[in-house]
Amino acid sequence: MNSAIDLAELEADARARDDADPLASFRDEFLIPPHGDGQQVYLCGNSLGLQPRATRQALLDELDAWRDLAVEAHFRGKHPWMPYHNEVRAHLAELVGALPAEVVAMNSLTVNLHLMMASFYRPTRERHAILIEKGPFPSDQYAIESQIRFHGFDPATSLIEVPGDEPGQCISDASIERVLDAHGTRIALVLLPGVQYRTGQVFDLKRIAARARAQGCRVGFDLAHAVGNVPLALHDSGCDFSVWCSYKYLNSGPGAVAGCFVHERHARADLPRFAGWWGHDQSTRFTMGPEFSPTPGADGWQLSNPPILALAPLRVSLELFHRAGMARLREKSVALTGYLEGLIHQHLAELIDILTPRQSERRGCQLSLRVKGGREAGRALFEHLGRQGIIGDWREPDTIRVAPVPLYNRHLDGLRLARSAKAWADRAA
Ligand SMILES: *Cc1c(COP(=O)(O)O)cnc(C)c1O
Repeated sequence: MNSAIDLAELEADARARDDADPLASFRDEFLIPPHGDGQQVYLCGNSLGLQPRATRQALLDELDAWRDLAVEAHFRGKHPWMPYHNEVRAHLAELVGALPAEVVAMNSLTVNLHLMMASFYRPTRERHAILIEKGPFPSDQYAIESQIRFHGFDPATSLIEVPGDEPGQCISDASIERVLDAHGTRIALVLLPGVQYRTGQVFDLKRIAARARAQGCRVGFDLAHAVGNVPLALHDSGCDFSVWCSYKYLNSGPGAVAGCFVHERHARADLPRFAGWWGHDQSTRFTMGPEFSPTPGADGWQLSNPPILALAPLRVSLELFHRAGMARLREKSVALTGYLEGLIHQHLAELIDILTPRQSERRGCQLSLRVKGGREAGRALFEHLGRQGIIGDWREPDTIRVAPVPLYNRHLDGLRLARSAKAWADRAA
């Protein structure tokens, strides 16, 4: 990337790759934020996905239904509100590899985590611990520790944190298995991410769930950074539950309605749960009787009637995923992220370390970057990129996260990032 000739070649190569991309047209279905006379290089879909063009009309349609039909819109109109959450069910199940009755769109992520722990974290004197990775997303840490205290236990003795044992603080499968083998009989719940938010590492859900269940533990996954990013097979993984949010890779807008998976084997189980009328048996919900009888499946954990204005963007987004297909998206994602990683290795190796695993099967689209010069240099590069309209995000103390997402990013975006970082390094030198 040192001479003008190199640059022209790199640019031609990136454009050729983008021209050959069978999913290229999906970019036009998103609104890319402006920067100067052009567009941002938006590499922050891991934090807030971009707005699909169709979302605005979907919201206006619901406002019109409210205006024109009012209460009758529950049963009439293009997308009747009463069964509205069923409209997202099939595509949601397809996306996470679940049976339709195993998934439901409801609440927000941390709320769902609490609801699932109410049912699946049932500590006893002998078995009271929760196993997590060291340094999980703070909301998960707070939720988990508060559940431990709620049951009268102490996180100091009931929280088992698996530390990173690989470069970049990634965690090997062997390390998780060692902790499970050593402490399994006192672990009530294993709660790990599908993709770790800070490192971008993918966890082997099936392998973890099998080992945890062999030890008699319940197992749940937080898929905030995995859903819409990597292919999932939740039913086959055998986990008891999973939760995720919909505003990151699922592009459903800030604070969007989250998701929840409960394995089929619990569909009719008499599990303790926090109940609400929307989880009541649908055939008798409106007889308004005093006794709660849950609807079978994940629907039985619903509390309230769903927020239609927040579900409409999810419906639009899931339809895009269905059309693109997760297998094709993954194929493009592996290529896009590998391309960016290659540029960093070839041209920026003296400036940047990559914390994310190198093997594509152990990561999604995110790369976590650390500037070798330390935190201040990292902040300076991050701010330089921002001024150029190249948007990633910063995670304290020293990590820049960038995520080329296959629905709307291009190889050219990766090249713009690498060029800009290289120009910054050359100027600083
Ligand atoms: C994004 C994220 C959250 C955010 O929680 P909300 O309840 O949606 O605010 C929680 N946990 C993880 C792992 C996340 O990545």
